[in-house]
Amino acid sequence: MTELGKGEITFVDQTGLDRHVAPFPKPHMEGFESPIRIQMALQYLEENSILEETKRFKHPQATREEALLVHSEYLVHSVEIMSELGGGQLGESAYASEHLMPSAMYALGGALFAADMVTSGMSRHAFALVRPPGHHATSSSSMGLCFFNNVAIAVRSILRNGEARRVSILDIDDHFGNGTAEIFYADPSVQFISLHEYSYDGLGIGHFEEIGQGEGLGTNVNIPLHEESSNLSYKIAINRIVVPAIESFRPDIIAVSAGYDAHFADPIGEMNVDSETYWYTAKSIDELVNSLGMQGSFWVLEGGYNPLMLGPSIRATLEGLRGKQCPLLEDQEKREKDASIVRKNQRIIRKIQETLSSYL
Ligand SMILES: [Zn+2]
Repeated sequence: MTELGKGEITFVDQTGLDRHVAPFPKPHMEGFESPIRIQMALQYLEENSILEETKRFKHPQATREEALLVHSEYLVHSVEIMSELGGGQLGESAYASEHLMPSAMYALGGALFAADMVTSGMSRHAFALVRPPGHHATSSSSMGLCFFNNVAIAVRSILRNGEARRVSILDIDDHFGNGTAEIFYADPSVQFISLHEYSYDGLGIGHFEEIGQGEGLGTNVNIPLHEESSNLSYKIAINRIVVPAIESFRPDIIAVSAGYDAHFADPIGEMNVDSETYWYTAKSIDELVNSLGMQGSFWVLEGGYNPLMLGPSIRATLEGLRGKQCPLLEDQEKREKDASIVRKNQRIIRKIQETLSSYL
């Protein structure tokens, strides 16, 4: 195998294959997860010539056997039947349409293809621009706009095929990746790290005291940040928790649940970052791949519901993976940074370090 140069990236997209639209449009979040996300992101990336230095591919659909690597027969069958019937509710905020099954199978196919490009040595990094997203789907339930857990299935697939022994999954979506956490909670071969918005008043799932169980104890790393967290809070969390956790776990490959709804302009997320955070995350992952001698990383789109902001966010990600400087983009503006939120997050980060001190 030839030595892979820094900056080798494969880009996989799903234009025209993602016809699923939630059939009950209403003023809730369902209406935001639509094909326009992919269309506008691609238009931006093409107009700015961002994809010219990538290897671009269309990818095949996944098979139902691949979906069954993680999900129950009941879940897969439910998605098939509801699509054939033309629609219906599969779970909380998870509505089928007649196009759901092919769209979901293409999204999963994109994640599997991106993973293959890295494990086969064809590319150092790969990015799959696919929808519907996956990280809320558990082994037995569709929910939160997610039907099949694209990243979890791709990770299970490469572990089953012996293409990696250990995998770290980093989830940067605004919301806690509850599905992925559940699927690998007791699995010592998969480290799950989730940066997410968290309400310490509500105390829902995603708290930092959830650290895995059984043989997987210490492999679930939750980084629940306060609402309105900005670039600085994310940078501190990446430097103090994400990087040391991955260095300690020593994976063969990193999978990223690439949700962009922590962006300040997102209509659903309540965080306050811009594309600089996505550049910094990608740069940190590329540096880890180099320093630990890993195969690489593959990124799969999750959330991100302002279609105007997906383009700049993904552009910054690709530049970070290429080892380039942070591009000055239109979404980066001087916003008030609330120092009290940074201080509150620093206290949380110290508690995470204490909680995981015997594992990291
Ligand atoms: Zn999200």
